[in-house]
Order: sequence, then C-alpha cells, then structure tokens
Amino acid sequence: MVRCENCGAEAETTDELDHDDVKQIELDEGGNGPPRVRYGANIRDLWLCKQCGKVLGVS
Ligand SMILES: [Zn+2]
Repeated sequence: MVRCENCGAEAETTDELDHDDVKQIELDEGGNGPPRVRYGANIRDLWLCKQCGKVLGVS
C-alpha cells in the first residue's frame, strides 16, 4: 500500500495512482565540444498522488 505523506491519501495498488511518463534529460559531456542535452535517453514511469499530485514513486 502506498500512502501519500502530503495529503494522507492511500492507494492499495498503483492502479489507484496517477501515472505519467517522464523523459529524463541527460547532459552528454563527452568529446571536446560544448555539452549536448539528450532527450529521452532514460524514460521512467512516475506515480503521482491523485489527490494532490505529489510524486510517490518512480518505477
Ligand atoms: Zn497526496
């Protein structure tokens, strides 16, 4: 069970949480040129409280 520490809402399963995909932004500092920003290099699932939107976990 997941309990939101912000608003106290409880969820038995992740089905009761809001779900969002997050594309992490990574800096590629290899090479001699200026750092390049890479999008979508590591996509994570983000679980959000349905009541207040607080981030409860990342899978
Ligand atoms: Zn909450």
